[in-house]
Amino acid sequence: MSEALKVLNNIEQLYQQPVIKTNEGWQCPVCGKGYKSEKRAKTHVDKQDCVTYQSLLKDTLLEIKVFSVYKLIIAAYSPAAKVSLQSFRKSRYYKAVSKFVMFCHLHEIKDVIKYLEWINWEKDIHHMNALLSNGVKESVLREYRMHCQVIDDIDSDAFYERNEKALKQDPQFLVRSIEKALISITYLAYKENFNFENTMESLPIDYKNRVKEIIEYVIRNRQ
Ligand SMILES: [Zn+2]
Repeated sequence: MSEALKVLNNIEQLYQQPVIKTNEGWQCPVCGKGYKSEKRAKTHVDKQDCVTYQSLLKDTLLEIKVFSVYKLIIAAYSPAAKVSLQSFRKSRYYKAVSKFVMFCHLHEIKDVIKYLEWINWEKDIHHMNALLSNGVKESVLREYRMHCQVIDDIDSDAFYERNEKALKQDPQFLVRSIEKALISITYLAYKENFNFENTMESLPIDYKNRVKEIIEYVIRNRQ
């Protein structure tokens, strides 16, 4: 299991704990915040947002990865700023960058800076917090992946080489790879030895429809 997945599982587990009854009312089992009513305490717990990411990430390889992404973001968006791991740990972006990096890892976004640049440009968002919080939205990610298919900016060759067999034999893998923009649909359509049309014909109907939707989107939006 990847480190990011482990951290997410740990967060999930932390929030499985019940709220704690105290003399004054109810308490969050994760951060200790007190509430008069059980309902409000539970609402707080359900948000799963009070855990300090440093308690989960400090001194792990994942933290180093998160820090390297933070440095890239700073270099791109406020190049004059000086950064160190110490300053990052005190920074108000620690949590947002950690969440963003874990999200990108889980969704197999290869170039996180390219993804941020697209949000920056497409959504006209410039503040780091807004960039990062948009970056972890599934709807934004979906739009970005479609954009990658439209401009055909995907390292399809390398992915195809690594996964040729699965792409030919496993319809679910094929369709998910296209949806995740791990491989370009245009590339597949013209790939020798792949036989795109036959493959599409042989797909189960719901898979076929999902691919069709992407093809139509690409045609509509390509100039
Ligand atoms: Zn809490």
